[in-house]
Amino acid sequence: MAIKEPVKVREVAALTRAVNFEEVVLGYNEAEALTEAARCLQCKNPVCISGCPVGIDIKKFIYQITQKDYKGAYLTLRERNNFPSICGRVCPAEYQCRKACVMSKKGHPYASANTINVHFLERFVGDHGMKNALDAPVMKDPKLSKFKVAVVGSGPAGLCCSGELARRGIKVTMFESLHKTGGVLRYGIPPFRMPRDILDFEIDSLKKMGVDIIPNFIVGNARSLEELFAEGYSAIFLGLGAGIPSFLGIPGENLCNIYSANEFLTRVNLMSAYKFPQSHTPVNIGKHIVVIGGGNTAMDAARVALRLQKMNGIQADTTIAYRRTEVEMPARRLEIEHAREEGVNFDMLVRPDEFVGDENAFVKKMKCTRCELGEPDASGRRKPVPIPGSEFERECDVAIIAVGLNANQLLTKVTPSLTTDKYGDVVVNKETMETSIKGVFAGGDIVGGEGTVIEAMGMAKRAAQGIVDHLLKQ
Ligand code: FAD
Ligand code: SF4
Repeated sequence: MAIKEPVKVREVAALTRAVNFEEVVLGYNEAEALTEAARCLQCKNPVCISGCPVGIDIKKFIYQITQKDYKGAYLTLRERNNFPSICGRVCPAEYQCRKACVMSKKGHPYASANTINVHFLERFVGDHGMKNALDAPVMKDPKLSKFKVAVVGSGPAGLCCSGELARRGIKVTMFESLHKTGGVLRYGIPPFRMPRDILDFEIDSLKKMGVDIIPNFIVGNARSLEELFAEGYSAIFLGLGAGIPSFLGIPGENLCNIYSANEFLTRVNLMSAYKFPQSHTPVNIGKHIVVIGGGNTAMDAARVALRLQKMNGIQADTTIAYRRTEVEMPARRLEIEHAREEGVNFDMLVRPDEFVGDENAFVKKMKCTRCELGEPDASGRRKPVPIPGSEFERECDVAIIAVGLNANQLLTKVTPSLTTDKYGDVVVNKETMETSIKGVFAGGDIVGGEGTVIEAMGMAKRAAQGIVDHLLKQ
């Protein structure tokens, strides 16, 4: 029997969406989800599961969709994933479950387009669960209700760990240094990819379970870990994230109008800079914006910059400059496609060498060298090798650097007994996720370095179990 074509997901047209921050991908309706689910071969050996960082029983939830058992499908997802509506929107499935799917061409860096759209099916079921107020079973354990646990950081790791603990009857307080919760889901990923009502719904559900949320509170500054223990917390979870941007280290990088992607996205997503002067935080929008990098952060920054140009009626261009080719770009394939459709330019095999400023120290151009691909490096990707004599300049009045993120060290720097590695990441026991300090656990980007939402949640879930085991021994 011939395998049917994948069901294309509905999206807002590129010209319409590039002038606002509304959600781009509209998702599957029931008929589309049923058709896509029916394409799954229900393999005897469902290898897709090995590609999922949290081991969701993908075959089972897809089968349940075919049976219109959406509640069952939701509960199957929730066994391993606390936030299917979020992951269904942001998971890089083409590098994970879809890449492992039997339908995918082997040996390619990401899944072929014909593989089952597991993430869109997950989103369909997750959204069905939200609309119908479905929830995973609460497993309150009377032996745990006397304990209170502090969760530091409200990104996917902190949210997931809080939910897991509250579900077991533990009193949870979540501390967040920013004025709003959600971590990268709110300050990094723009609303056209991660609608805020979905995030708010998940955070409200935690509040309903009794999780206390304290914003504007830097643990390590307002309170040390010892002080939290002294205040009666029996365990602490650290979901501090990787919020410190890397830079290129080239001349001119500190000129005006050169932002890290983190700063640029935070100003827009969290501080409403696009509404300046009504909002307090400005952001400068150039005519020739260059975004340097090839990951999700670079795509988000470029698509936000392009929207700001268009919404302000600036006749302009936004270009992504990347030192390898599109094949090696780590961003989700869908985001690359969307960025291109919306009008972002791509300039591949470019190495930035220097920024040049005007008399007021505002960046005005970028000196670069063309590259070609050489042998694979430690990451397995082919290395960019500069071509002698290929130097050139490009106009650039705003540059956004999106070349990686490092461990957030607000807390680790002031806690010498917390062991970190050479990258500043917190070292943990991989099974329990306990750190070098007894009763302190960690997960998410602060442990593995810059990763994905589902990986952060997977670690947080393991840590929550580690905390429960620790509490039960007390
Ligand atoms: P974070 O989300 O970084 O949250 C950490 C939180 O801890 C922050 O809110 C921070 O303010 C708070 N904090 C830190 N220190 C303290 C302290 N001392 N006291 C109190 N609070 C503190 N992944 C995907 O899977 N798909 C995507 O499409 C995707 N797109 C991305 C786009 C961007 C722009 C970025 C930056 C990342 C993206 N990622 C994506 C990666 C993903 O968002 C991260 O892997 C994930 O958010 C990590 O979760 P976390 O909870 O560990 O950290
Ligand atoms: Fe098989 Fe792919 Fe379906 Fe998994 S998603 S059961 S690997 S066809």
